[in-house]
Amino acid sequence: MLVIDVQNDFCAGGALAVPEGEAVVPRVNRLAKQFETVVLTQDWHPADHISFAASHPGRQPFESLDLPYGPQVLWPSHCVQGTQGAALHPELDIPHARMILRKGGNRLVDSYSAFLEADRTSRTGLDGYLRSLGITDLYICGLATDFCVAWSAEDARAFGFSATIIEDACRAIDLNGSLAAAWAKLAAAGVGRIGSAALGA
Ligand SMILES: [Zn+2]
Repeated sequence: MLVIDVQNDFCAGGALAVPEGEAVVPRVNRLAKQFETVVLTQDWHPADHISFAASHPGRQPFESLDLPYGPQVLWPSHCVQGTQGAALHPELDIPHARMILRKGGNRLVDSYSAFLEADRTSRTGLDGYLRSLGITDLYICGLATDFCVAWSAEDARAFGFSATIIEDACRAIDLNGSLAAAWAKLAAAGVGRIGSAALGA
C-alpha cells in the first residue's frame, strides 16, 4: 500500500488544506494493518520551490503557469522541508511502514507523483524499490485524490504495476473540475477503484 502525503499542511489548519483531509487518517491506519508492505510519501519542498506562488512575483495561488516542463498550478507555500506543516499527521499510526519517500525536493521541478517528477523523466527510485521487493500490485490512498494520488497511480501503471485507488481513504482538492478529469484519466490508464470495506477495513 502506498500512503500519499498524509501531512499536516494537507489537513485542517494546514497551508494547503484538502477538504476533510484529516478524515482519512483513521481509515488509513486500519487499512495499513491489512498490508505487509506499506510505503509512505511526504511532499518535501525547499522554501523557494518553483510550485509556490510566492516564488513568482505577481502570481496568486491556484493560477496556472507555463514552466519549461509544462503547465504548473501555483500553490500556497506548503510542506517546506523540516517544518511542522511537512510532518506526517500526528495520528498516522503505521509503525510497520517500510519506507518514507520524500518527493518534490528539486527546487526547479514539482513532483506530484511518487514515481516521476513533473519533468516526466527524473525518477524517485520508488519503482526499483518496489520491484526489488517483488511487489506487483499496488493499493493507493491519501491526499489529494486528483493530484498526488492520481499522478502516482497513473505512473504506477506506466511502470508496469497493477494500481487500485482506495477511494474512501482519499480526499480531493477538486480545482476547476480536476477530480472528474483525474478519474477519467485513471480509468483510461487501467487504474482500479475499491472501497476500504472490500479490503476488510
Ligand atoms: Zn507540493
